[in-house]
Amino acid sequence: MVATIIHGPEVAEQIKKELREKIAELKGRGVTPGLAVVLVGEDPASQQYVRNKAKGCEELGIYSRSIILPVSTSEDELLRIVDELNADPAIHGFLVQLPLPKHIDENKVLMRIDPEKDADGFHPVNVGRMLIGNPQFLPATPHGIQEMLVRSGNDPEGKHVVVVGRSNIVGKPVAAILMQKRKGANATVTVCHSRTRDLASLVRMGDVVVAAIGSPRFITADMIKPGAVVIDVGTNRVDDPAAKRGYRWVGDVDFENVKEVASAITPVPGGVGPMTIVMLMKNTVIAACRAAGMHS
Ligand code: NDP
Repeated sequence: MVATIIHGPEVAEQIKKELREKIAELKGRGVTPGLAVVLVGEDPASQQYVRNKAKGCEELGIYSRSIILPVSTSEDELLRIVDELNADPAIHGFLVQLPLPKHIDENKVLMRIDPEKDADGFHPVNVGRMLIGNPQFLPATPHGIQEMLVRSGNDPEGKHVVVVGRSNIVGKPVAAILMQKRKGANATVTVCHSRTRDLASLVRMGDVVVAAIGSPRFITADMIKPGAVVIDVGTNRVDDPAAKRGYRWVGDVDFENVKEVASAITPVPGGVGPMTIVMLMKNTVIAACRAAGMHS
């Protein structure tokens, strides 16, 4: 079997089309949705992500502001910027790019973000709402994964989804979203992590496998049940002297071999990444609609 490739940009385009209509409606009422991104430090993957976000906003007619701060920024300075964004009427949603430098308490910063403007959906209020099935903002990457599955004809309903990774930004929320009692979810979910015993045999039970590990080509073909759907969240920079920049991005899945076993698979790049960006835009539009008293 050779897998169908689930192309992130194609699925993202469908969602962009829906967003354009909403944005036009908002603009008709004199509202331009606004998204701000705060980045502390110079992590290359984060910088790339921030650039992609700005590009995504521009394409859809969303006002975008990138606030790039030196790694030496103090926690108090960052909290002051969060307060300003909370109060800024031009900004409907914003996020502080994680991870933050060690001297800044990530939880303190997340707690300070107004839950109504929490474009990443990481504030405990929004995490709680997601878990009880009454979400306001869903975290962008996990929500994008759900959309990819449903829109590519791989509805997770009734399937066994094996998630590898239990981070607060991917593994845990994707499990929470896919186990909800609702359309486009209703999956039976297993979550694996670094302390999981016999990981390979658990992954092999998955009708759907979501890899969010951060380890290049960790998931190999022998770990995949024939016909499974494989979603690769991993974004790992590996050296490649043959590449123009001297490096390239690879996923957590051994794509070349796994695609011979799976029924559908997402590539890296061109898979989950573009979905993350568009779901963030969606959260910004939802926030702008709420602020304008409009149905989102
Ligand atoms: P984290 O490092 O926060 O979490 C990694 C998870 O993988 C942890 O739960 C860890 O287990 C688990 N893990 C690590 N090693 C193993 C192992 N040997 N066996 C089993 N489990 C293991 O990463 P993130 O969740 O933030 O990100 C994961 C990947 O996804 C990264 O490559 C990141 O760059 C990418 N990413 C991509 C996005 C996109 O838009 N495409 C968005 C967000 C992330 P434990 O908890 O026990 O330590």
